[in-house]
Order: sequence, then C-alpha cells, then structure tokens
Amino acid sequence: MPRCQACGNSSVLASSIVSRETPTANPPTYGLLANFDSDGNITTLECQGSSLDEAQEAYENPPDYLDTCPVCGSENILW
Ligand SMILES: [Zn+2]
Repeated sequence: MPRCQACGNSSVLASSIVSRETPTANPPTYGLLANFDSDGNITTLECQGSSLDEAQEAYENPPDYLDTCPVCGSENILW
C-alpha cells in the first residue's frame, strides 16, 4: 500500500498535479484526494477541483497522480 515516508500516513493521499481553480492559502487544499483501505485499495475519491476524466485516470494510475501526503505535505510517497 502507499505510505508517506515522512509521517507514515497510508490512509489518504492527494494529488499535486490536479489543483483547485481557486486555491486557498491555509490550510492547503488539493483538487483530488483519495482514501485507502488497509489493503491499499482506493475506497473513495474526493474530487474538489478535478474533472471526472482526471479522477478516472488517478483511480487507474494512482502512483502517477497521488504524489502528496495531505497530512504533512510531504511528496515522499512510497508505493
Ligand atoms: Zn505525511
């Protein structure tokens, strides 16, 4: 399963590729968030700024899209 090497989070990842149209300064938000179960499978995708096509591609190729830990902000994700 994916895991953030900085804080150990493995339950939710974000995409820095897909950005919201109107980003807010604090807290940082992401256009796409994915929640994972204990087996590393995506359970839900939260599309806050992404298109359905982007969400579908992220679902099929998560390592290419989900590159950021929304917990600590690290991009050091181990797949
Ligand atoms: Zn982290």
